[in-house]
Amino acid sequence: MADYVTVAPIALRATIAAHCLASGSNRREAALVSENLVLANLSGHDSHGVGMSPQYIAAVREKRLSVNQSAKLALDAGALITVDGGMGYGQVIGHDAIEMAIHRARQFGVCVLSLRNSHHVGRIGHWGEQCAAAGLVSTHYVNVINRPPLVAPFGGSDARFATNPYCAAFPSPDGKPLVLDMATSMTAMGKVRVAMNKGEQVPPDTLIDHQGNPTRDPNVMWNDPKGAILAFGAHKGYSLALVAELLSGALSGGGTIRDGNWQRNTITNNMLSILIDPGKLGGAESWQDEMAAFLRWVKASPTAPGVEEVLVAGEPERRTRAERAGGIPIDLTSWNEIVAAGESVGVKADETRRLAGLN
Ligand code: NAD
Repeated sequence: MADYVTVAPIALRATIAAHCLASGSNRREAALVSENLVLANLSGHDSHGVGMSPQYIAAVREKRLSVNQSAKLALDAGALITVDGGMGYGQVIGHDAIEMAIHRARQFGVCVLSLRNSHHVGRIGHWGEQCAAAGLVSTHYVNVINRPPLVAPFGGSDARFATNPYCAAFPSPDGKPLVLDMATSMTAMGKVRVAMNKGEQVPPDTLIDHQGNPTRDPNVMWNDPKGAILAFGAHKGYSLALVAELLSGALSGGGTIRDGNWQRNTITNNMLSILIDPGKLGGAESWQDEMAAFLRWVKASPTAPGVEEVLVAGEPERRTRAERAGGIPIDLTSWNEIVAAGESVGVKADETRRLAGLN
């Protein structure tokens, strides 16, 4: 028997939307949440896809996530805005905050958006892609609070901050933006969860156990005393994680993860986004030709042994979208959690399977 189910994207959206509606979300929220999560799966980032929805539903039921919130302007200073998310769904708050920032960037040429107090905003590339679709260059720095720290500082042996993602996105006339979207840790925590659910080991140099020894066992992140994830790129990645923490957490007023700031155990993201309208930068008329020529030059590098092609950021996700357009594989542990989450809000298991086209 296969250890996964395959669900068509449209059916998966309907399934997750039905669970959101049953847990109190309005139609718009259910649509934004389900589209966002399914696009993460389509992009190959199962860690930030529908496997998150049982956690969201549990958070709604335990009042750690508020349904039907809207992004509220806490500061309106023209090109600088601060948005408070009221602990609403990050998929809605993120979408609406970025829409506001897009309008400001078009007006002023640039917008600095400081977003605080949002529940999990998911795959940060989603926000970079939203800006790129509007013709804007953007960069995003994110921290995570109200959850125990996961990542050890360079030279440390226990976790002191989270996987603090960084994203930069550049629009392209062919609709294929350059999107760098990465955790500053060696791996996203969701990928450790997926490895644990699949009974697999994580790649080498990813985790340490509670004594600081290297390990490939994902269970160290769940069993006490807990291990930690390593930052990517040794002292450099570690320092970029600190920059993301300060830009997003300290500047927004949302807070950093320092001592005690994880007691509420409900995943909260703060994000600093800078959006630039490249058309408003003097001399930038030909920047997209320059970008295309540069990327052609880079990709023409003769490949190293065993490598088929030099890729640029954003290409792997686009390829996975094409591959998964006909069906998204979901591991059975995640699928069973989704079915159980549906049942917890009154959607019978049979109905979840029917919506997913699995009956
Ligand atoms: P990853 O390592 O899979 O990819 C990182 C980047 O590298 C991507 O932009 C990808 O396009 C690019 N890439 C991959 N292979 C490449 C290649 N061969 N050549 C060139 N570029 C290549 O991503 P990750 O670090 O595991 O992050 C996964 C997701 O987790 C991201 O979407 C991130 O936003 C998300 N995340 C979210 C949070 C949160 O709190 N919301 C926290 C951490 C991570």
